[in-house]
Amino acid sequence: MIDSEEFRKQAHAFVDWMADYLENVDSYPVKSNLKPGDILNKIPEHPPVYPEEMDQIFNDFKDILMPGITHWQSPNFFGYFPANSSYPSLLAEMLTSTLGAQCMIWETSPAAAELEEKVLNWIKDMIGLPNEFHGVIQDTASTASLVALLTAREKHSEFHINEQGFSHNKFRIYCSTETHSSIEKAVKIAGFGRQSLVKIKVDENFRMDPVALKKAIEKDIKDDFFPVCIFATLGTTGSTAIDPLDKIAEIASEYETWLHVDAAYAGTALLLDEYKWMIKGIEKVDSFVFNPHKWMFTNFDCSAYFVKDKDTLINTFSISPEYLKTKTQGEVNNYRDWGIQLGRRFRALKLWFVIRNFGVEGLKEKIRCHITLAKEMEQQIIDSNNFEMVTPRTLNLLCFRYKPKNIKDNGKLNRLNEELLHKINSGGQAFLTHTKLNGIYTLRMVIGQTNVTKEHVQKTWELIRNSVGEDS
Ligand SMILES: *Cc1c(COP(=O)(O)O)cnc(C)c1O
Repeated sequence: MIDSEEFRKQAHAFVDWMADYLENVDSYPVKSNLKPGDILNKIPEHPPVYPEEMDQIFNDFKDILMPGITHWQSPNFFGYFPANSSYPSLLAEMLTSTLGAQCMIWETSPAAAELEEKVLNWIKDMIGLPNEFHGVIQDTASTASLVALLTAREKHSEFHINEQGFSHNKFRIYCSTETHSSIEKAVKIAGFGRQSLVKIKVDENFRMDPVALKKAIEKDIKDDFFPVCIFATLGTTGSTAIDPLDKIAEIASEYETWLHVDAAYAGTALLLDEYKWMIKGIEKVDSFVFNPHKWMFTNFDCSAYFVKDKDTLINTFSISPEYLKTKTQGEVNNYRDWGIQLGRRFRALKLWFVIRNFGVEGLKEKIRCHITLAKEMEQQIIDSNNFEMVTPRTLNLLCFRYKPKNIKDNGKLNRLNEELLHKINSGGQAFLTHTKLNGIYTLRMVIGQTNVTKEHVQKTWELIRNSVGEDS
């Protein structure tokens, strides 16, 4: 194994590689086009018995693994939702892994616990959540939503399910047909069974229909079911639809159900005053999550979870084995009791670095810039002859398709758009993904990568048009 001297030498070389990579990342083919097994076949069947040189290991990383990487930090990456990073975030991650601290309780690193508390208070303030919310970092939004559901379950059952398990299964949980798949997963994991999940229909813009929600709850109550939890989404994964939170919140409080808000992607837009309307009704919300690891320039993973009733959260998860008992219990935050896992990385550090180094204004400026770029591209799609928006833009996601005037058949259009997407992505110059909206094969282009500029967007629009044989 290398020693300190060699570590210093290698680390400097690594940093040079990292900086070169990020400076040139837009010249890599965005999506890896390797075939299944290509990497597996290049890695030896058995681990080395004797030490190998770091140079050799690093060379193999470059030669064998890099061709199998999809470049999420490329400004030509327009797929899914971004998983952004930034220089301050990377620097913090270097320190986090150097410290290698296990931040499960306050005593295992008071700085980590107290910085987490403070930074989440900053964020609460930045995005306009009321003061009664308490923040904690979870690894992902999927985990945060599961945590919310388990807390809702225990609140509803007065902690009986934690103690005795289910004694009946007459529970109902509500979300919309456009809700992220992690909610269905959470319902399965939490023991309710998928049949307990009621998917409420959406309106023409893919927002949950609150009238249908109310009707469903009333019918379920008549049939002796207990409504436990409602999931509202700000920024659905398919099309960034914004559920009408104020109306849903009224229903949740009328029927005394837990209300969780999944704002995994769109939550970052709450930094901007012009998007604070999205959380109208927030005072009736029980829990809320958004991912700084998506659109707030903070390396994966980092999910900001906020809950109003922190005692119920802690009562749901706390365990206190002898070896973890401390004198400070009750005085400080022991975040192992605020979620599922015991061990926790020091994630607050990268948030602190990002927020300080960008400044709140700097963050807002970037987000506004992304939204403006999306707005301009939307206009070009609307003005074009052969493309159309499938659903109106809400933030910086464009849902559109190729639709030449002479083709009316939807099946044929779906096939053409699938082929178009494949053509764009296999060329490596840009990467987009797709979804289906009301049976329409829809191209999704998210303009939110940390370093995306007008030029990247413009080049990609030209690429898309060239791919269907239009001249630019
Ligand atoms: C991305 C996304 C998730 C899942 O986020 P993870 O942090 O990867 O678990 C959940 N909900 C919505 C709306 C999302 O866009």
